[in-house]
Amino acid sequence: MPVAKRDYYEVLGVDRSASADAIKQAFRRLAMKHHPDRNPDNKKEAEERFKEISEAYEVLSDPQKRSAYDQHGHSGVEGAFRHGNFSWEDFHHFEDISDLFGGLEDLLSSFGLGEMFGGRGRGQRSGLSGADLEYLLEIELADVLSGKEIPLTFQRHEICDACRGSGGKGGTGRVSCPECKGQGQVRIQQGFFMMAATCRRCGGEGSAVKEACPACRGEGRRSGERHLTVKVPPGIDSGMRLKLNGEGEAGVRGGEKGDLYVLIRVKSHPFFVREGANLACDLPISMVQAALGAEVQVPTLTGTVTMKIPAGTQPGDIFRLRGKGLSSLRGGGKGDQLVRVAVEIPAPLAAAQRHALEQFSKLSDNGVFPRIQKFWDQAKRWVKQ
Ligand SMILES: [Zn+2]
Ligand SMILES: [Zn+2]
Repeated sequence: MPVAKRDYYEVLGVDRSASADAIKQAFRRLAMKHHPDRNPDNKKEAEERFKEISEAYEVLSDPQKRSAYDQHGHSGVEGAFRHGNFSWEDFHHFEDISDLFGGLEDLLSSFGLGEMFGGRGRGQRSGLSGADLEYLLEIELADVLSGKEIPLTFQRHEICDACRGSGGKGGTGRVSCPECKGQGQVRIQQGFFMMAATCRRCGGEGSAVKEACPACRGEGRRSGERHLTVKVPPGIDSGMRLKLNGEGEAGVRGGEKGDLYVLIRVKSHPFFVREGANLACDLPISMVQAALGAEVQVPTLTGTVTMKIPAGTQPGDIFRLRGKGLSSLRGGGKGDQLVRVAVEIPAPLAAAQRHALEQFSKLSDNGVFPRIQKFWDQAKRWVKQ
């Protein structure tokens, strides 16, 4: 199972001295490129790449984790992803991990959030439209459970109130550009040739304001701060984008507004590992609890619950707490929490404890260790006696 892991800086394609901003930008760019929705032909591979990118970003975007990684490499931050020997591979036999991204579009439109990826690309609108914006929103695992309304604040171009977006002083109208006489192009003599070039005065539009609005210098929009609340639906996952129509940049001189895309990243949790709607965790119990059976406490996202462990529980046994996972984006109830037990052997022992175990040992030759028995029954066939 242990596969050589790639260097996180290499994964994100940045220098070891890269700034926090450069790291964020690299992550965004790669997350878009390797989003499984954008790679329908090799979805599995894209999902793997996407996980790798997220993990690298998780570490390099956190100054503490980054410094631990710089000093000790992967082992310095191992605990952030695999507590003990935890790995999702162990849980895969329980569940066919369902496709994380299919069917999401319909679902999000039912939340009033509009389409996901794959909409209209940039630059396909008229030249005067505002650009689309993107906002990287990091949320906690607990927010995935019930959904959340999260306030966002960001800079964008707003329509200028002084000229109501016209770009003309006091809202005055436009006149035919005197430079190009409304053609949008001017002729330039170049040696023997006459060449056409875009008019600099009107930028090729053919018309210009009589007098530019002093507040926005004739652009019809100016930089402002936008506050809005985004509704994050329950069950959302890293890499998904929410589209908010018309919340991007204002257009130039009354042009169409761009859209705002909110890219979601769910922060990793110190205790739970997520796979779709299910959560998994490791739970240490004592050797005695495993042997005798016990009622043990298990943390869940909504509080601690009691779980019954039967007598004879073995290390690595997995128990399922139904409905203690996350909501599914597609509806249809909640996922489960899978609890894998780790059995702790008591140490150090006091004299009386040692004595009690020695007494137990004298009594335990009557088939209470069937695995050991079976192992040697098989081994005897190929080990020389
Ligand atoms: Zn203005
Ligand atoms: Zn002109």
